[in-house]
Amino acid sequence: MTDFPKNGPSPISAFDRIGEENAFAVLARAGALASQGRDIINLGIGQPDFPTPPHIVEAAVKALRDGQHGYTPAVGIPQLREAVAVDLSKRHSTSVDSETVMIMPGGKVTMFAAILMFGEPGADILYPDPGFPIYRSMIEFTGATPVAIPIRESNEFAFSADETLALITPNTRLIIINSPANPCGGVTPKSEIDALVKGLESHPHVAIMSDEIYDHMTYDGAEHVSLLNYPEIRDRLILLNGWSKTYAMTGWRLGYSVWPPTYFEAVRKLAVNCWSCVNAPAQFAALEALTGPQDAIQTMMSAFDERRQVVVRRLNDIPGISCVTPKGAFYAFPNIEKTGWQSKPLATALLEQAGIATIGGPDFGIHGEGYIRISYANSLDNIEKALDRITTFLASQG
Ligand code: PLP
Repeated sequence: MTDFPKNGPSPISAFDRIGEENAFAVLARAGALASQGRDIINLGIGQPDFPTPPHIVEAAVKALRDGQHGYTPAVGIPQLREAVAVDLSKRHSTSVDSETVMIMPGGKVTMFAAILMFGEPGADILYPDPGFPIYRSMIEFTGATPVAIPIRESNEFAFSADETLALITPNTRLIIINSPANPCGGVTPKSEIDALVKGLESHPHVAIMSDEIYDHMTYDGAEHVSLLNYPEIRDRLILLNGWSKTYAMTGWRLGYSVWPPTYFEAVRKLAVNCWSCVNAPAQFAALEALTGPQDAIQTMMSAFDERRQVVVRRLNDIPGISCVTPKGAFYAFPNIEKTGWQSKPLATALLEQAGIATIGGPDFGIHGEGYIRISYANSLDNIEKALDRITTFLASQG
């Protein structure tokens, strides 16, 4: 809920319903505590702790020096749209037409556009819970009804096709799925995605938004299966992806989506009405990211993998905590029920008393109670130190 002054102009009620991402509030609080001299370790934030690879930074600098200072086409520069199409066609068993690729100012903006396109009072939109909090926030903003797809620890935090399909009604307009997933680190296996797509054939009125922003981030041989691989749903599939996680570019505000041709014109017009185009030098950096050397991804993923194993081992050593080994992204989602704490009070106590920023599971939906999210986008040293402090803190609580 937003508090507007009682005697001022009143915004439409949708603005009473807009939510947010508590990770940003935790980041601000962690920063405030650090500026008071507290030693804070941030395991709350969802961004790689690596810098953007230098050749990508240089491409942006060069673009600025070369005079790329103006508007670009609203849909993105043609060479970048083409590079996205080539990259996707190469990595998946499909061909993507660059005319269906939209360059966006961040991954989030695709969910904004897709949810605005299908959400209105009377419409149901299915979304993963626990899941990225902006899905639900935007669904509520449009007046549509959010319908949670439970993401269960007993299913290693993959979504269940049967459970998802059972939630579809004639009012369902859009299904949002996310694998590899935030906040649980689950990767849904191909068999389950096959079953979902098969079931969707009986529901041709339902659009699908597949958030694949963590597509490069899998471990232990887990396979990311893109929804692009299924020609039978391509005419109603919106693919969300971007550069933020894979290339450590969260602050550049870059993303892309692939749209069915019939919806593309609507999203192009939304861009013209709202953001005009994506920052021009950032688009040249994105082009270099896709077409230049890719070894930085492997280096980052090896570091994440090592940390993942430490985090899971150390969490499972703490009495009262158990942690499924995440197969994707850079988050662990330990079960903390047996500590006797509720999730949000524990996350607050860990930050205020032990100096460790984490996010309470309910910030990702009602099915997040009993868990906290730990991002291992931090150095191994800091992770070990943080786990020492969490262990000591919980032991001191008796
Ligand atoms: N989708 C998921 C599942 C995410 O976790 C995030 C960011 O944390 C985004 C989308 C948004 O990415 P961006 O920072 O590019 O807007």
